[in-house]
Amino acid sequence: MTDTLMPTYSRLPVAFSHGNGAVLFDTNGEEYLDALGGIAVCGLGHNHPAIRQAIAEQAGKLLHTSNLYGIAAQQQLADRLTALSGMDTVFFSNSGAEANEAAIKLARLYGHNKGIERPTIIVTENSFHGRTMATLSATGNRRAQAGFEPLVQGFVRVPYNDIDAIKNIAANHSEVVAILVEPIQGEGGVNIPADDYLNELRAVCDKHGWLLMLDEIQTGIGRTGKWFAHQHNGIVPDVMTLAKALGNGVPIGACMARGDAAQTLTPGTHGSTFGGNPLSCCAALAVLDTVEADDLPARAETLGRRILDGFKQQLAYVEGVVDIRGKGLMIGIELDMDCAELVSRALLGRKLLINVTSGNRVRLLPPLIIDQQQADTIVSMVSELIRVFLAENRKSLP
Ligand SMILES: *Cc1c(COP(=O)(O)O)cnc(C)c1O
Repeated sequence: MTDTLMPTYSRLPVAFSHGNGAVLFDTNGEEYLDALGGIAVCGLGHNHPAIRQAIAEQAGKLLHTSNLYGIAAQQQLADRLTALSGMDTVFFSNSGAEANEAAIKLARLYGHNKGIERPTIIVTENSFHGRTMATLSATGNRRAQAGFEPLVQGFVRVPYNDIDAIKNIAANHSEVVAILVEPIQGEGGVNIPADDYLNELRAVCDKHGWLLMLDEIQTGIGRTGKWFAHQHNGIVPDVMTLAKALGNGVPIGACMARGDAAQTLTPGTHGSTFGGNPLSCCAALAVLDTVEADDLPARAETLGRRILDGFKQQLAYVEGVVDIRGKGLMIGIELDMDCAELVSRALLGRKLLINVTSGNRVRLLPPLIIDQQQADTIVSMVSELIRVFLAENRKSLP
């Protein structure tokens, strides 16, 4: 192999050729269980007939025309997403980072329209919002930012799940226009805030006229047991971003807005050549139809609870396991030591796809269509891997 790919990823030594549901096959025909779903993208698993058919049908008609013309599927998708979320308008992009870029631009313009000269957005520690310059600047990870300074200005950072820190800023900072936050931090380690955190954020934003902007790129489309994670709190944000599971693997992102924010971006202020093209919108429409028809948020809730209970039974009293947490099918197991090598141990030893994030958290994001038996297999395999890993590595501790 020659190094014609930029070395932005250190890849595992497996390549997949096809899949079915939550099962993947590598190029040697070996079978794997997918508990990662392409990082929360393939909520409907692999080779789902509804998605396959929607894409194939649209490919036979039209792939792209540009946003200079009407796009029926884009309009339909906007109607569906606004009805599901209670938001008013949508801008379509091709990725999560681009959806957040749109949100950041929207917040700044919203601020300037109110006469605020240096609009500032509150963001949190350990957040992840993307790899473009503005979203990297919003991201709360110094390692990801290192080497790419100067960062984009206009962000102020507070600890996650700390409402007092935000109230403090409210008292001392007159140029805040928005809060951008994940309902559950994904890359940051499956960090679940207090039950009323989002309600408190909603109240602070209402009090100060700030936009509540929720990055639901990882939590959205049924993952946590509701269509969108903030629906557990009975609130509605002013801006919400989506991507990952929206297209089940066909690249599409969305920046949604409500109320005053819904009309902020006007002709000439933002755009995208590919965003919302007929192919990606047809894929996303098929995703929404399937998630709805099969009641997958409820399934995520039930199976997520089963997996979480299973892990608590298997691992709660194992020394070295710090915390077991999750909402729906977004699950994290925190260990007291770095466990990145569990990814390759699971893949090569158990033919199981998992992820480790923030160094010491095993993260599971299986397709929402997994069955009960697959859920139980995930619990037993991951528990065993963690037990063996901790037994081996804790022995050698001083
Ligand atoms: C993955 C992710 C992003 C970035 O999405 P890309 O499509 O990789 O640009 C942004 N925010 C959150 C919460 C994510 O999980």
